[in-house]
Amino acid sequence: MLEEIHTYQMERIQIRGQWIKNYNYPVSPLIKETLDKASAKASAWRSVWNGEHSYHVSGPPDQYVVNLRDKTCSCRLWQIQGIPCVHACACILKNGHPLTKYVSHYYSRETMVSLYTHMLYPINGMHNWPKTSEVGFELQPPRTKRQRGRPRKKRREGGHFQV
Ligand SMILES: [Zn+2]
Repeated sequence: MLEEIHTYQMERIQIRGQWIKNYNYPVSPLIKETLDKASAKASAWRSVWNGEHSYHVSGPPDQYVVNLRDKTCSCRLWQIQGIPCVHACACILKNGHPLTKYVSHYYSRETMVSLYTHMLYPINGMHNWPKTSEVGFELQPPRTKRQRGRPRKKRREGGHFQV
């Protein structure tokens, strides 16, 4: 089973590593889709700048406070996900900044590339593994120690052994 997992992971890392070389957007595809949805809804929200880093964002259901320097919104979605919420998108788009600049670095293309730069190396089958006798010592099974207390006399319910 471990060899199957090893083979699967080798293939997965190799395929994704090749794919990422041709991918040129600053964030992953799923995050790009999330940002596209949020930016489409952002026009329904009105943001007012306070003169520093904060914005008062009001819209149909409620109003929120967005801080672009700290990357926070009072709806807390930005802090939890690391992706600007629709309120933050309204502020960012109003400034003319790219939304991808405000996404957590965990979703960046550079992080994806660094994930797949390392690789798994192929391993031989079990018959080609070195024997412990060839290493210079014989590995013995661990010594068993009798547990303290009186041994159990009744069998466990549903157990395989009878005493
Ligand atoms: Zn928000």
